[in-house]
Amino acid sequence: MSDNVLVVTGASRGIGAATALLAAERGYSVIVNYAGNVTAAEAVCAAIHAKGGEAAAVRGDVALEADIDQIFAAADRMGTLTGLVNNAGVVDLATRVDELTLARLERMFAINTYGSILCAGRAVKRMSTKFGGKGGAIVNVSSAAAKLGAPNNYVDYAAAKGAIDTFTVGLALEVAGEGIRVNGVRPGIIATDIHGAGGDPDRAERMAPSLPIPRAGTAEEVAKAIIWLLSDEASYTTGSVINVSGGRASTP
Ligand code: NAP
Repeated sequence: MSDNVLVVTGASRGIGAATALLAAERGYSVIVNYAGNVTAAEAVCAAIHAKGGEAAAVRGDVALEADIDQIFAAADRMGTLTGLVNNAGVVDLATRVDELTLARLERMFAINTYGSILCAGRAVKRMSTKFGGKGGAIVNVSSAAAKLGAPNNYVDYAAAKGAIDTFTVGLALEVAGEGIRVNGVRPGIIATDIHGAGGDPDRAERMAPSLPIPRAGTAEEVAKAIIWLLSDEASYTTGSVINVSGGRASTP
């Protein structure tokens, strides 16, 4: 049994996969959660195993409470939970607020917001010294959109991520005396598949020249910030949300 288990939601590709790979290098046993792409999740695990690390691919939709329970049951089978990265997230097609439907809003908030809050609750139950745990760290993946509002694009996504920023502060203060640190990262334009899922596969490449650091970020650059926040190097950091955005939306 491992004494250092990390759950990374949405770890089959993009920022989550990069985080899982780096976490394994730093000694975590990693639950590589995914929603549907088992082949990609198993490839991440295979890469970790090839370097002598421990990982397991676990299917689960973070919008479903029963699936969340299965993700954390898998973590319990692996050992003692010490960390959670709430990374799973989705965008949707660009639209205006006056075109938003309840169905779209429910999916957006269920995955990006409720899923992260429910996963964090499961992690607190396991890690809090109040419940006999040995402490740990949670990192929530927000977005620069939380600051920008994403007008004419996906204000619903921005609002769901804004809720994550507020949640990060609230939970951090709630469990600060229980051995758990809670922080977030706000990625800017990062070169991953998420833009294609939002119907705009060339978004990162197209926007790159207009960014303060004139290129898209990489998933690995975001993963490094996440891993720092998880680590003891960040032992006095809680309730913070770090911009990893090349300067985009970095002012209040
Ligand atoms: P991505 O490449 O599209 O990967 C998304 C991951 O989330 C995949 O592993 C996917 O699993 C998983 N996922 C999707 N819906 C899920 C669900 N309901 N339950 C569990 N897992 C689910 O995304 P990314 O760009 O790496 O983004 C990761 C996080 O960073 C997200 O929270 C996103 O909002 C945030 N972010 C990204 C950017 C950017 O520019 N890329 C910028 C700001 C913030 P499957 O492979 O199985 O579908």
